[in-house]
Amino acid sequence: PLTRLLDPTAVRELAGRLDLRPTKQRGQNFVTDANTVRRIVQLAGVRSDDVVLEIGPGLGSLTLALLEVADRVVAIEIDHLLADALGDTVAARAPEHRDRLDVVEADAMAVTELPHPPTIVVANLPYNVSVPVLLHLLARFDSWRRGLVMVQSEVADRLAAGPGSKIYGIPSVKMAWYAATSQVGSVPPRVFWPVPNVDSGLVAIERRDPPTTSATRDQVFAVVDAAFAQRRKMLRSALSGLAGSSAAASTALEAAGVDPTARGEVCTVQDFARIAEQLHGS
Ligand code: SAM
Repeated sequence: PLTRLLDPTAVRELAGRLDLRPTKQRGQNFVTDANTVRRIVQLAGVRSDDVVLEIGPGLGSLTLALLEVADRVVAIEIDHLLADALGDTVAARAPEHRDRLDVVEADAMAVTELPHPPTIVVANLPYNVSVPVLLHLLARFDSWRRGLVMVQSEVADRLAAGPGSKIYGIPSVKMAWYAATSQVGSVPPRVFWPVPNVDSGLVAIERRDPPTTSATRDQVFAVVDAAFAQRRKMLRSALSGLAGSSAAASTALEAAGVDPTARGEVCTVQDFARIAEQLHGS
């Protein structure tokens, strides 16, 4: 039997039965369109041997489409009402898939253990916390090598931006530490309930090795945070706090091959790694 994906009527009916009031605070906008979720699964390149980690399954729109293809889906949902209802929704609409779904009721920014190591992340992320959720999942679980996430389109632009671009910033550099990131599509507001007032972007993530450096990730990220804390400052003054003085910052920057009068927005993640290495005396 074919999976019955959710349509606008099904979403409204489910929400009504749960007496659900979607909140902005939890970024609750649910996809009501079968074509959209199938497109996401296809763009993600989900395979039959994949264990998918889904963040924020909500009413199950994307979960049902993922289960059509993947070997397993591990879904992390913070909302008790939604986490509690997901198994029943799948049992009712795709009974043959029910035992390949694990629901974890937890905050995706704090989760430290999963019932199965994921091979891929596919999610329509809660928009207000999409960047910290992604960074946490990248740092905490390294079994997953690729991903496809839907985020607010401005965030998608920022995640995929490269050095020299106006919107290149902390999320761009930190993502680049872990992965190559590109925008592969967009999704209009009308496929959601409730209808959000922003466009959504689809971001593909391909893991790669982090830069080779003797500095730790936290040391490099501290330099990134300082460099962008005041975007318009030259690096030698933005990093003077970390270095002890602006003269010490200049010395470290020069040793790292970076112009002390440049701004953070021109530096690659490798540049930041070399700067951190100099600042920490290795
Ligand atoms: N995947 C569903 C869909 O496409 O219709 C719902 C996506 S909705 C944009 C975001 C979902 O993430 C909501 O179900 C919300 O309750 C959940 N959520 C919000 N914050 C979360 C967090 N910190 N950890 C896990 N889930 C969260």
